[in-house]
Amino acid sequence: MEKEMICIMCPMGCNLKVKYSGGKVEVSGNGCNRGVQFAQEEITCPKRMVTTSVKTTEGVKACKTSIPVPKELIFKVVQEVEKLKIGKVKFGNVIIKNVLNTGADIVITAND
Ligand code: SF4
Repeated sequence: MEKEMICIMCPMGCNLKVKYSGGKVEVSGNGCNRGVQFAQEEITCPKRMVTTSVKTTEGVKACKTSIPVPKELIFKVVQEVEKLKIGKVKFGNVIIKNVLNTGADIVITAND
């Protein structure tokens, strides 16, 4: 099979042409090796960072996953954060460790 995709690993946004069959992935159009890694992961287990917000006693605060999580779990990760109502937090605080056993923590990104 063949597929085209845009690498999102850096602002260059290379147009990747990806051929895959029998577990073998061939990539062209990549400006560096990270594009190959990205394409392989997109074919086998696509992942994304999740950015959302959490309710606190001081209002709503922005937060995100510390590492990308499998795409199919994005909605469930957001639901886990929506369940929370927490106290005072600051930038960098971890509010959920290892969310849904993904290895990702949910971290406060708000600066205020
Ligand atoms: S292939 Fe390399 S240069 Fe191109 S967008 Fe991906 S990370 Fe950037």
